[in-house]
Amino acid sequence: MVSIDNYDFKGKRAIIRVDFNVPVDGEGNVTDDTRIRAAMPTVKKVLAEGGAVILMSHMGRPKKNPDTKFTLEQIIPAVEKNLGVKVQFAGDCMGEKAAEMCAAAKAGDVILLENLRFYAEEEGKPRGLSADATKEEKDAAKKALKEPQKEFVKKLASYADCYINDAFGTAHRKHASTYLIAEYFPQDKMFGYLMEKEVKAISEVMEKPQRPFCAIVGGSKVSSKIGVIKALLDKCDSIIIGGGMTYTFAGALGGKVGKSICEPDMFPVALEILEMAKAKGVKFVMSPDALTCDQFSEEANTKEASVMDIDPEWEGVDIGAGGKAAFREHILSCKTILWNGPVGVFEINKFATGSKAVADAIAEATKNGAFSLIGGGDSVACVNKFGLGDQVSYISTGGGALLEYIEFGDLPGVAAIRD
Ligand code: AMP
Repeated sequence: MVSIDNYDFKGKRAIIRVDFNVPVDGEGNVTDDTRIRAAMPTVKKVLAEGGAVILMSHMGRPKKNPDTKFTLEQIIPAVEKNLGVKVQFAGDCMGEKAAEMCAAAKAGDVILLENLRFYAEEEGKPRGLSADATKEEKDAAKKALKEPQKEFVKKLASYADCYINDAFGTAHRKHASTYLIAEYFPQDKMFGYLMEKEVKAISEVMEKPQRPFCAIVGGSKVSSKIGVIKALLDKCDSIIIGGGMTYTFAGALGGKVGKSICEPDMFPVALEILEMAKAKGVKFVMSPDALTCDQFSEEANTKEASVMDIDPEWEGVDIGAGGKAAFREHILSCKTILWNGPVGVFEINKFATGSKAVADAIAEATKNGAFSLIGGGDSVACVNKFGLGDQVSYISTGGGALLEYIEFGDLPGVAAIRD
């Protein structure tokens, strides 16, 4: 496999799939440039080695072409500021102009293509179907998009001599720019630095973790994390369950959960997970108590209760003092810690102290030598909210991608480069 560090970029045009799906305000200003910054080492490397760079990305979920709200033109100042190099905008990712600009690209040039998702071909998802379209109609529309998608990929590939995928956040998608394009560059495809770092951190945790290895899985619902929890049961020594899904487990075990978020249709799955954990010898750690509230706001009255016995009109929104102590003690006894999903409604300060206790314990364990990996938008926001971002070992930029990597042990975007 080619690596970005031993590839000769001199005189070559590199098409780089980056993740420039950044938030912008009403005036088109980038409000958080983390993802742009994260892509810079790769772009700078190609330029420093005498190559030309063609950047491609998606932004948002446009439904037509063009869709000015999602134009990548608005992020050019933010890219130029981070790169220190002028960026030429192609105005489209298809068409004559983009092709001509890419063909004429010289060493040191940086060209930005327009939002790939202006074209349905990028995702391979048909547009314009009526809401009541039948399955047959949907299948036919998808089939009809196959040939145009091939042409789309071929055209993107024709712009460059080599392909770099540095968009970990979309590596779980089999899209034109993240997956299909790789086959046009059998000897000239590689990971960018960000992808390399992400893959290394996650595979280190999943393949050869220092033990004990504990995964903390929080968030709102069991239903969205079943696959991940089951996969983790094969890898971890223990699982800490937090957040809204606590009450599905408590309910399945016969507890009274009041108005807490709870999925009764998931009770059999919750019990199956508990059985699996027992059979595999994986310790299952749940908070014995909950912080409950009478309304979902900063003004709420709160009180602690057993997770198995919450008052009918009250709702569990965070772990209680017993949970904080139990989670802390357990986290400090582990050498590898993976955290996905807050253990409470951390967006409301009153309900954030449990997630803060978890973040603090992870920072402390990391200081004591444990490896900690935080991933998934909400837990990253959580760690950053408490100012602990630089006190954990690795923060993943991918939410969905990280979870799918854990669940399936690989990602299409990773396999397309590697295989
Ligand atoms: P997820 O996207 O599944 O990781 O869920 C993250 C969301 O779960 C956050 O927005 C939290 O506010 C929410 N959450 C965490 N704990 C609870 C809870 N006890 N009740 C309701 N929502 C929760």
